[in-house]
Amino acid sequence: MKKTILALCVLSFCFLQVRGQFPRFKILAFYSENVEGAHVEFAEEAIIFFKKLTEGNGFVFDVTKDMNDLRTEKLKDYSFIMMLNDVPHSKEQRQALETYMENGGGWYGFHVAAYNDRSSNWPWFLNFLGGGVFHRNNWPPLPAKIVIDQSNHPVTKGLPSSYISPLNEWYQWKPSPRENKDIQVLASLAPENYPLGLKDIIPNGDTPVVWTNTKYRMIYLNIGHGKGIFSDATQNKLIIDALKWVVSSDKKGNVFEK
Ligand code: ZN
Repeated sequence: MKKTILALCVLSFCFLQVRGQFPRFKILAFYSENVEGAHVEFAEEAIIFFKKLTEGNGFVFDVTKDMNDLRTEKLKDYSFIMMLNDVPHSKEQRQALETYMENGGGWYGFHVAAYNDRSSNWPWFLNFLGGGVFHRNNWPPLPAKIVIDQSNHPVTKGLPSSYISPLNEWYQWKPSPRENKDIQVLASLAPENYPLGLKDIIPNGDTPVVWTNTKYRMIYLNIGHGKGIFSDATQNKLIIDALKWVVSSDKKGNVFEK
């Protein structure tokens, strides 16, 4: 009997030890099924991609379709939130995001997660993104040559100076976020892509593809339209390194060094 109790204690101690180390961090990903079909397709592939990364790595990738999960009490356990294909809508959701980000929270957004226009009426969000309002896009979706603007940043370190990104709808913003002193552009469309598109054409200009607002722990990637985004190894490295950077730059400490 005593031996059994002892064995149970040992087992539960081991369990507690393991629980103390894993998960190292938690991510909460928001996505919607009530958006453009190609944005749903992207989100579905993204969820599979990021879920695979959790295998054996000790982090949790939670997924929700409910934007009302954007509330302070819920977010406090998460290292960062990921916006796969939607933006906060209600006043409460927007306020929760502001509170979370102004207090050290993390944000990782794809494609339409930065969409805003004159009807958005959300100055905080516009400033958070660097001041760019949606200006124009190419159509149909096309592959494009991406150039790395900053090769010494943890998100882009080790990447070639350029690569071809798979089929995507590219958004151009006005003014370009690059004009904002708080914005660090890490990658953008190469000038030789222009004119880009057939039905809708981006004729010229500056199209940042990856950027961060240095006032926040955030990163935005312009990619996220349709299937096949995760079919390129170079771009996948960028996507994963962006995740690692958002997590590791948490002021609470770098979980990868614990
Ligand atoms: Zn799109």
